[in-house]
Amino acid sequence: MFFELSKSKDVNEKRALSYFYLPSYPENFHEYYGNKNGFLRRLNRKEMRYSLSDGIKLDNGGVIIQIVEMGGIYIIFIAFAIISWLISNQLKVKFAKYSKMPIQYSGKEIAERMLRQNGIDDVKVLSVEGQLTDHYNPANKTVNLSRDVYYGSNVAAAAVAAHETGHAVQHASAYAWLQMRSALVPVVSFASRWVQWVLLAGILVVNTFPQLLVAGIILFASTTFFSIITLPVEVNASHRALVWLKGTGITNNQNQAAAFDALKWAAYTYFIAALASLATLVYYVLILMGARNRD
Ligand SMILES: [Zn+2]
Repeated sequence: MFFELSKSKDVNEKRALSYFYLPSYPENFHEYYGNKNGFLRRLNRKEMRYSLSDGIKLDNGGVIIQIVEMGGIYIIFIAFAIISWLISNQLKVKFAKYSKMPIQYSGKEIAERMLRQNGIDDVKVLSVEGQLTDHYNPANKTVNLSRDVYYGSNVAAAAVAAHETGHAVQHASAYAWLQMRSALVPVVSFASRWVQWVLLAGILVVNTFPQLLVAGIILFASTTFFSIITLPVEVNASHRALVWLKGTGITNNQNQAAAFDALKWAAYTYFIAALASLATLVYYVLILMGARNRD
């Protein structure tokens, strides 16, 4: 809501929601627009209204950053938005590059081999629609690979397939951080459904009923905690993937370095997301403290 980096694809839906709840802007509410060439500018009031009602025309891959200014703190959010956006671009570049480096096996074969060698026989490897949709689902024990990864016989596909299988291995070996993360999923899905509206309402009534903002901050803190817990889980899955790929001889020295690099950039996206979440949490706490100090 107040710090939001949205890709043009899903901007319109979010806009419609914002319009419903935020028909007029507070004085210190701003929107910035950036395109993929690194161009960033602040939208004027008229454009902001227009962007709410109809969705402004965005270049493919453009971003809208919504910010409530409070002192100079918004600079930090702009910095986070730009960094995470640069990282996701870099990730795409790396994956495009490493998917041109051929490897003996497809992602599917790699996942199945890695499962078997870890003594896991109750996990299925499936192909799912979309790009970068790869994930392990502990609920039904499936390694879900996007088409490019499932069918691809290249370093990028191998790295992703082995990483997702790494999560399956974590699950089978009751890896503590994964267990903690899974336990938090219902809490976080509840929190993320309500957090924006509770925070928004909380800020609007902060001077009369600050408890609502406190509730919003608690909800938000649970999502921040979740994104921090995610870090060791992701790094460990990548570590398992790289050790296994090297140990089996599927990667040689050259493409092992490429697999490492691809997974490293994927990890950065989680890292910057956790940092941004932490900064946003601090920001809401500062709003609360600012309101208290005015009393
Ligand atoms: Zn992962």
